Amino acid sequence: MKLIILYFFFIFSILIITCNTNNKECEHDWKWKTILEPTCITSGSKIEICSKCNEESGNSESITAFGHSINKNYNCSICFNPYKLGDTGPGGGVIIYRKETGFTMVDNGEICYYLEVSYSLIGSKLTFASGNCSMTSLMTGSQLGYGRRNTANILSIDPNAPAAKACKEYRGPNNKDDWFLPSIDELALSSSFEAEYAFLNITKYIENFEKGIYLSSSEKAGEEIWGKDSNNPMFWLSVSMYYYPSLVRAVRAF
Ligand SMILES: [Zn+2]
Ligand SMILES: [Zn+2]
Repeated sequence: MKLIILYFFFIFSILIITCNTNNKECEHDWKWKTILEPTCITSGSKIEICSKCNEESGNSESITAFGHSINKNYNCSICFNPYKLGDTGPGGGVIIYRKETGFTMVDNGEICYYLEVSYSLIGSKLTFASGNCSMTSLMTGSQLGYGRRNTANILSIDPNAPAAKACKEYRGPNNKDDWFLPSIDELALSSSFEAEYAFLNITKYIENFEKGIYLSSSEKAGEEIWGKDSNNPMFWLSVSMYYYPSLVRAVRAF
């Protein structure tokens, strides 16, 4: 008899416990769950879901695309694709030039495959030289691969050269410290490879692109600097290194 009572008590307890569990509000334990993995170029998404009852909170977030992993190469080591013109580069700029076989940076012999340019203007309009510094030695080059060395050379003579200094100090959204003032060819590449006047092609990729005269890091004789007018991209022009404030965008090579 005792056993039967105990048995019923046991069943009864289980029923009570079960009811309590069913009726009790779940103390949700929200955890993020990835429902779409990001790739190099596409973003993913995640939702907030209770790890106990699987209820969804209604919160969701996108996961930023992680970007190509391009290390001394043209193709990404993860997805094996290259950047396209107009993609956002590792420094947070826009890719304006690419070359599958690479090009040489003359300052240290590094082989690079891409140029990216800052989405934003560097400062307001800037001059080439600080105004108290004569730079007639033509120690700068005009070709692809020269801009980084030009920038260092300009600053070695005129440490306050406004355009070069601002580019050198620019860090961009991803805190890269190797931006420079582009050479005239880097500024306006007329490459047979893919993009004619690549720099000026950024008008396609940058909203509200500021039109006007862009300054390069390439000297011309007679205290003049090569520049490019985005309103007239077929022509070169030169501006006074001291007196002509021009638009500036920084470039980096990788
Ligand atoms: Zn729950
Ligand atoms: Zn990739």
